[in-house]
Amino acid sequence: MTGLLRSWIEAANAPDCDFPLNNLPYGSAIKDVAPHLGEGAFLHCVVAIGDMMLDVTTMEADGKISCGEMAGIVLDMGDWTNFMALGPETWKNFRSTLTDILKENSPHRTLAEPYLVPRHGANLVMPFHISEFTDFYASRHHATNVGTMFRGAENALPPNWLHIPIGYNGRASSVVVSGTPIIRPHGQLKGPNDDAPRFGPSARFDIELELGAIVGQPSSGPISVAEAFENIFGYVLLNDWSARDIQAWEYQPLGPFQAKATATTISPWIVTAEALAPFRVSTPARDVPLLPYLGESAPMLYDVALEVGLAPEGKAETIIARANYSEMYYSSAQQLAHHTSSGCPMRVGDLLGSGTISGPERENRGSLLELSWGGKEPFILDTGESRSFIEDGDTITLRGHAAGNGYRIGFGECVGQVLPARR
Ligand code: MN
Repeated sequence: MTGLLRSWIEAANAPDCDFPLNNLPYGSAIKDVAPHLGEGAFLHCVVAIGDMMLDVTTMEADGKISCGEMAGIVLDMGDWTNFMALGPETWKNFRSTLTDILKENSPHRTLAEPYLVPRHGANLVMPFHISEFTDFYASRHHATNVGTMFRGAENALPPNWLHIPIGYNGRASSVVVSGTPIIRPHGQLKGPNDDAPRFGPSARFDIELELGAIVGQPSSGPISVAEAFENIFGYVLLNDWSARDIQAWEYQPLGPFQAKATATTISPWIVTAEALAPFRVSTPARDVPLLPYLGESAPMLYDVALEVGLAPEGKAETIIARANYSEMYYSSAQQLAHHTSSGCPMRVGDLLGSGTISGPERENRGSLLELSWGGKEPFILDTGESRSFIEDGDTITLRGHAAGNGYRIGFGECVGQVLPARR
């Protein structure tokens, strides 16, 4: 495994920095709150490095960087959708150019210096146009926990689970960027002892700790797992907000609908598949062999340590869960290949939620539903308060990183505060 690539931006060389030269994640920043961003465009494509970000939209406009000889102006829209559409060769070359500019003792230092902006206080927005959103159910520990609660340990895994990456088509319209407030949803609620449903605020509002995979190349028919892997541009942290009481009443027979339509929060920095390449791991051993079209030709999961923080309003945060993406039963590439198996076309900017990421231990549970075992076993925060589900004012923060030798590939934070229901 390679070590830290040193940069002339000193903060990028700290071992606990999320954004060393090895990472170079892609984001989008609004000009008004980051006034140092160059003239012209309102939205700017930016690349995180240490405590700074490089304004590549203005660099491109000034002719100081290019997405390729034939590409022309690509970054003027201020998000990464058009860049992704150019394909893996461009992704690789552009990243290599950035690395060359930002590395220690680079002869191009003076070229980049005028385009560096402090990251602190930057207003980061959605870094790409989300075409569609699909969410999966791919952690064996999560599926076993949830299945045990609802069907008993004997029948915890549905009969299809070991054969199919189970998913559902979600909403692109409700995907929001980190920092966006989340309003507690209303919905139809009916507990097991209620005679009739009622309409009211969800009392069992929850999170799901996930990674989101971003499709960077279109496909118009079935593709292989290997092709799917090549089509994934990068990854973000993803919190799939879920109203468990709405879900319990509505989900049969077509799966979740309004329970997961309130919001899905993603982190603002796209960590590229290339940055994560040194951390690839295989999916776990199979109880039953997968059908050949789902076979893994190479390791396609990543060793990414994840954590969930919960802070009651105005109070200190407690880390309520830690898990690792390497525990998943299906990789994003397998999910994407399965998604296309019917002929379903995929577009640039399709977002695939990994499914809730849980591990084998209690502390590895990636949802409050599991942490409180359906509300039966409330857990205690460092403040002394207890929680079964999210309370108004609670702020949830997801974090994640791959740990290298003397450096880390960080995702930054995926934050959302839950505000009281309205109406
Ligand atoms: Mn989910």
